[in-house]
Amino acid sequence: SYPARSVYKLKEMDKRFGLLKPGMKALDLGAAPGSWTLYAAERVGSKGIVVGVDLQETDTKFPEQVRFFVDDVFEPRAGFRNALEEVAPFDIVLSDMAPKTTGNKFTDQARSANLVEEALALVQACLINGGNFVVKIFMGPDADAYRRELMQHFRSVKTFKPKSSRSESKEIFYVGLGFKGGRGAQGA
Ligand code: SAM
Repeated sequence: SYPARSVYKLKEMDKRFGLLKPGMKALDLGAAPGSWTLYAAERVGSKGIVVGVDLQETDTKFPEQVRFFVDDVFEPRAGFRNALEEVAPFDIVLSDMAPKTTGNKFTDQARSANLVEEALALVQACLINGGNFVVKIFMGPDADAYRRELMQHFRSVKTFKPKSSRSESKEIFYVGLGFKGGRGAQGA
């Protein structure tokens, strides 16, 4: 079993888009309490690697192929930075990050926009050419522009709407398939 219900979203996207395979290296942003990390670890298996990061600690017990860091993606410290450098290029970057909501619509939207931009910056720094990217975004004025931005970096961009529960009704996922930048096979 998984520490958070949200695992079903990643499972569904994995089934639909064939995202995770044995031996892959995955980066999981906003990983606590650890459901996505755990699921990804099962899928990549003992020859794969999952690097997870979150502002919050978790007591979830992960298998050996997981390296979990308590850190802020906006201000990464040495431990997480070194792990990124060691493990990169990643085959896939997952971001289920969500800001702490303030109740102020504009503040919340701005924070959400900053998070998805930071996730894309990490993609550009460490995703392999041809790799995939899953990112949660809250529907709002910035979502379309962000999708267009993704379309410049990926061969295709899919939209995934999880069956909504009330609190999550505004969240959608973009799935970027086939990263056009980065290091890798095509030597880009
Ligand atoms: N995917 C996780 C799972 O299945 O267990 C759930 C993730 S939860 C919806 C969103 C997470 O994003 C929170 O745990 C939050 O702490 C994290 N987060 C928000 N801002 C962050 C930041 N700047 N750096 C790292 N993690 C962040």
